[in-house]
Amino acid sequence: VGWWDHVAPAAKDPINGVTEAFLADPSPFKINLGVGAYRDDKGRPVVLQCVREAEAKIAGSEFLESISASVSTKMVEESVKLVYGKDSDVVKEGRSAGVQALSGTGACRLFAEFQRRFHPESHIYFPDPTWSNHHNIWRDAQIPERTYHYYDPDSKSLDFAALMDDIKNAPDSSFFLFHPSAHNPTGVDPTEEQWREISYQFKVKGHFPFFDMAYQGFASGDLDKDAQAIRIFLEDEHLIGCAQSYAKSMGLYGHRVGCLSILCVDSKQAAAIRSQIQQIARAMYGSPPVHGILLVETILSDPNLKSLWIDEVKIMADRIQRKRTTLRQNLEKLGSSLNWEHITNQLGMFCFSGLTPYQVDRLAKEFHIYMTQDGRISMAGVTTGNVNYLANAIHEVTR
Ligand code: PMP
Repeated sequence: VGWWDHVAPAAKDPINGVTEAFLADPSPFKINLGVGAYRDDKGRPVVLQCVREAEAKIAGSEFLESISASVSTKMVEESVKLVYGKDSDVVKEGRSAGVQALSGTGACRLFAEFQRRFHPESHIYFPDPTWSNHHNIWRDAQIPERTYHYYDPDSKSLDFAALMDDIKNAPDSSFFLFHPSAHNPTGVDPTEEQWREISYQFKVKGHFPFFDMAYQGFASGDLDKDAQAIRIFLEDEHLIGCAQSYAKSMGLYGHRVGCLSILCVDSKQAAAIRSQIQQIARAMYGSPPVHGILLVETILSDPNLKSLWIDEVKIMADRIQRKRTTLRQNLEKLGSSLNWEHITNQLGMFCFSGLTPYQVDRLAKEFHIYMTQDGRISMAGVTTGNVNYLANAIHEVTR
């Protein structure tokens, strides 16, 4: 008795709150634009063909401890190539400390914990805004956060000058988190030239770049192109940290497959760092489930399945891009006097619409359309069947 009397409910997660409101709405017109998971044109989850084929290939294989170590090593090796390039020196020289992680979230959490252990006085700089869970992850690892300027609400694009100022004004050797492509929630990424300037300034300041890559392929449809920011930092010989997730890119959401890699000066340092991260993981959850890892390993090491996967990523990215065009065209056809160019200028799963919290509330109450308060639209929730209705509703609340 009395042990837990002081425990109050945790604050609602902004995205789960949207889903709850959506589920509770009986309207047949309702639309969920909250959750960032890819859907088909009927709004149903999609299992990629490469995953189906990998499932068939591994059916009946023995999910025993004896295979898990070698499988995860292979999965990590292939993942590292996706980030840094298959021919990159880091890969050849074995200079990356990579470990499998519980999807992107778990990779971030492992890194945050590693950061606290070996740089206990450090901070982490997040873009403003960023994925809401970044705040929780680094808070729980007891790393204080700071933010750097990123999004400019007036131009609905990158505030590059302010971003560069923040990088210059941060204390030397600070940790920064970047989204390498398809920034969540804004859909706004720096250009190639801007990444080069950021990377150069990071050299000057001695900052540490940590890339949270949750959407590789979703911005351009091309896995290498979406890793361009990281490749630029690599050329400039930065030691990089990277969290990778297969949730979006392979549609493996619930399987929780990801990878954390940290670049090192040599393979000896990589071995030391790998062993430290493995020890952190062991105390947190032992080891990750092996089924999803086996799927990813199978796809990445079979040339046919891999090329099928590459095609499927492109199909998903292109479809999302087309939905952006359709939504924008619909709004323009309705005679909206506002500028909707940002819908097609932004990239990836999300559109940062610029809708105000009041307009977001009206969309929910009057039109049964649900999204987060910041006006972020998950393009995955837009379908041929609802895009007219959605455009009308947005037009009504923004008149
Ligand atoms: N980072 C970012 C920026 C994300 O948007 C997400 C997914 N919403 C993640 C990491 C983690 O996703 P998961 O743990 O499902 O891989």
